[in-house]
Amino acid sequence: MILASFGVAVLSAVLAMSAAAQSFAGGKWIDLTHPFDSDTIYWPTAKTFEKQTVFEGRTPGGYFYSAYNFCSAEHGGTHMDAPVHFAEGALPADRVPVSQLIGPGVVIDVADRVATDVDYLVGPADIEQHEKAHGRIPRGAIVLLRTGRATLYPDAEKYMGTAERGEQAVAKLHFPGLSKEGAETLVARGIGAVGIDTPSIDHGPSKDFAAHVALMTHNIPALENIADMSELPPRGSTIIALPMKIKGGSGGPLRIVAHVPSP
Ligand SMILES: [Zn+2]
Repeated sequence: MILASFGVAVLSAVLAMSAAAQSFAGGKWIDLTHPFDSDTIYWPTAKTFEKQTVFEGRTPGGYFYSAYNFCSAEHGGTHMDAPVHFAEGALPADRVPVSQLIGPGVVIDVADRVATDVDYLVGPADIEQHEKAHGRIPRGAIVLLRTGRATLYPDAEKYMGTAERGEQAVAKLHFPGLSKEGAETLVARGIGAVGIDTPSIDHGPSKDFAAHVALMTHNIPALENIADMSELPPRGSTIIALPMKIKGGSGGPLRIVAHVPSP
């Protein structure tokens, strides 16, 4: 009897804690999304963002009306790489479970290391060091790698090493990323998704896209060109990262926001 009521007390405490964790009352929202416009950064070989005016102004009926067409590559600006982007038969954009795209935020800050090595690779040591300070990365976490490069966006030359367009520009790309071993460590933690404030989860000089392959063969999407994360705590935020639901897509434009509870 005593044991049973103890069990009920523990259960209700756990339920109260999880209700509190999921409450968005109070605290603050941080938009981690760059806007889409003619400055939006795309891979040097990808089609850039275009917006055409269909109509904008006062109509003969007396009311204001505006509507536009837009056209864009899947991969550009703040976007998701669906697992099928680098793994045959893996999940396309429309089939990535929402449960993987909403979860506890973990921010691994490597800006100091990137300051002295623009092509820095986040590896297992960075992840383990973070865990030592803030606890083990929980299953289903959305792990965001903060390289500090978001503040250079959308200056392509500073942000990714070149503003040139076309195939020859790819060899000039320089920005930090995640190593293959780092990706494997995150896969082993059972994370939902990984994000970074650079154009690609593999660093600029990559030729084999090993981090993409390591993540995506395990159906873990990558969130790229994330905006400034400097207001995010290492732990305690909730990330909501919902991309456009393109059927069979290899990725797509993403709106990503974080909720940070009040201290
Ligand atoms: Zn991409």
